[in-house]
Amino acid sequence: MKKRDNFYKQNTKQKILIVDDEMINREILRQYLENDYDLLMSEDGQQALDLIKEKKTELSLILLDLMLPSISGKEILKQLKNDPETEKIPVIVMTADNDSEVECLELGASDFISKPYPSNAVVLARIHKTIELHEKNETLQETERDSLTGLYNKEFFFRYAQQHDLYHQDEKMDAILLNVNRFHMINERFGRSYGDDLLRQIAAKLKKIMIDKEGIVCRRDADTFMIYCPHLDNNKEIYNAAASGFDKEVENIVRLRMGVYENVDKSIDLERRFDRAKAAADTIRNNFNRSIAVYDTAMHEKEMYNEQLIEGFPKAVEEKQFEVYYQPKFDIQNEIPILSSAEALVRWKHPELGMISPGVFVPLFEENGLVLDMDNYVWTEVVEQINDWKNRIGITVPVSVNVSRVDMFEINLVERFKELLKKYDVTAKEFLLEITESAYTEDANQIIEIVNDLRSIGFKIEMDDFGTGYSSLNMISSLPIDALKIDMGFVRNAFNNGKDTRILEVIIDIAKYLGVPTIAEGVETKEQVEALKEMGCDIIQGYFFSKPLPAAEFERFLIEKKKQLEA
Ligand code: C2E
Ligand code: MG
Ligand code: MG
Repeated sequence: MKKRDNFYKQNTKQKILIVDDEMINREILRQYLENDYDLLMSEDGQQALDLIKEKKTELSLILLDLMLPSISGKEILKQLKNDPETEKIPVIVMTADNDSEVECLELGASDFISKPYPSNAVVLARIHKTIELHEKNETLQETERDSLTGLYNKEFFFRYAQQHDLYHQDEKMDAILLNVNRFHMINERFGRSYGDDLLRQIAAKLKKIMIDKEGIVCRRDADTFMIYCPHLDNNKEIYNAAASGFDKEVENIVRLRMGVYENVDKSIDLERRFDRAKAAADTIRNNFNRSIAVYDTAMHEKEMYNEQLIEGFPKAVEEKQFEVYYQPKFDIQNEIPILSSAEALVRWKHPELGMISPGVFVPLFEENGLVLDMDNYVWTEVVEQINDWKNRIGITVPVSVNVSRVDMFEINLVERFKELLKKYDVTAKEFLLEITESAYTEDANQIIEIVNDLRSIGFKIEMDDFGTGYSSLNMISSLPIDALKIDMGFVRNAFNNGKDTRILEVIIDIAKYLGVPTIAEGVETKEQVEALKEMGCDIIQGYFFSKPLPAAEFERFLIEKKKQLEA
């Protein structure tokens, strides 16, 4: 709409409304202006207001006489500037009373032309200048604002924050990041436009309190807001302003989390300061007991550690510091357990930091876009290994690899797998894919589409960490999967103090209903194995059978098993 208005304005003469009760004045202006502008005339205040309401999107300027019979020019000006729909139309005030100039400018007039009128050229020049300035300003506002909330967008926010630093070098500042917990659930439950409205409400509250605290605020993306303001001893005030006053029906559902990086170090760049605020906020993601977290030394140390990992990544790939371990899975629904496949699990043998578990670096690499490269490395190692075992020791063992939810968005994923298998002469049956349940809940449609593509060329998909991704039963029944891996937490809880295996039984029932086998992870004792077998669980992976082993050790394990079978 906006664009079309501009287009319209560019291709026709700009429209000016002249409001003056004296005919002679209107006539002079007509002669001055009619060649360059499209003119509307009004001789009465009320009539002018009505006309402005009607033509508000078309008017480029209003020329307003102050001495009008029914409503005064000042009153009209006041009304226009108090109405959000008309406040942006520039107004030039015309009067013989030069003393009114300051007052009119304060009321929001853009300029002032005194009567009797100056020359044609002077009037034209002032009008031209006013319109041009106004349009430039509008374009600027459009580019610097987020269209949903009217707050600054990220780029301009950083620009203004930088400017602020420049002029207030000694002022202590806080970087704050606010986020709505599980915002996608609100969207899903109440609809997108409700979600949008909620974001607008939060934006308005933040804007209001920032006027008071002399800070600036922007919407970074989706449901994330950033604030840069002079240091506050009591940042709870900001939180309270943003997180209260919602509609009754949602007030217990809408929860915000706020991360604060206090007294920022101005020697690091602005983005990084807000990364710190975000790191603080992330520590209380979905934590219902805490809504504000402050960046502290422990987080700082973690940040430094993570940085070391990220910086060390290219070298780690080059020097093959990543090592793939293999953990067997056993089919237990037989007299004796039978090795059915193995899971490939990566470890990082870091030259300075020692052995690092994937639980530490995988989530980090997922955030930093490195995970695909790392997984590629693992996948390649694995197919090479499968091929080697087949040829060298005559054992074919299917291996499952973990596919990060981030990998799923790689456009050429299917092709990549195809090429990899072809190159090492491995079939899709020997190379299983584990995809975590939460990937499905995040962007169901896209993931389902990719999974369908992968299955259509023969891949078997195991849904990993089942039970932690909060899929609805409704959704699960339509998911394309070939096995359910029960998250380790359920096994742990079921056999903790006071055995309660009901949830496990439910999950196994769900899998039966879907017609897919279940795999239990983290199984450590004989008691667990037997109970799971009783419940109908098909496959078991865990320390009871074996820890994840380096390839060479796993190979000895394979050979041993083969000998046992042959004996
Ligand atoms: P996951 O895929 O759910 O893997 C199972 C985890 O459980 C592994 O942890 C395994 O060592 C551990 N585990 C297996 N049996 C037992 C047991 O009996 N007791 C206990 N306490 N733990 C057991 P690990 O190797 O630390 O991996 C953690 C997670 O890191 C994996 O969870 C997976 O999500 C991710 N990961 C591992 N390797 C890769 C990889 O190559 N690529 C990607 N994208 N993610 C990986
Ligand atoms: Mg896994
Ligand atoms: Mg798992």
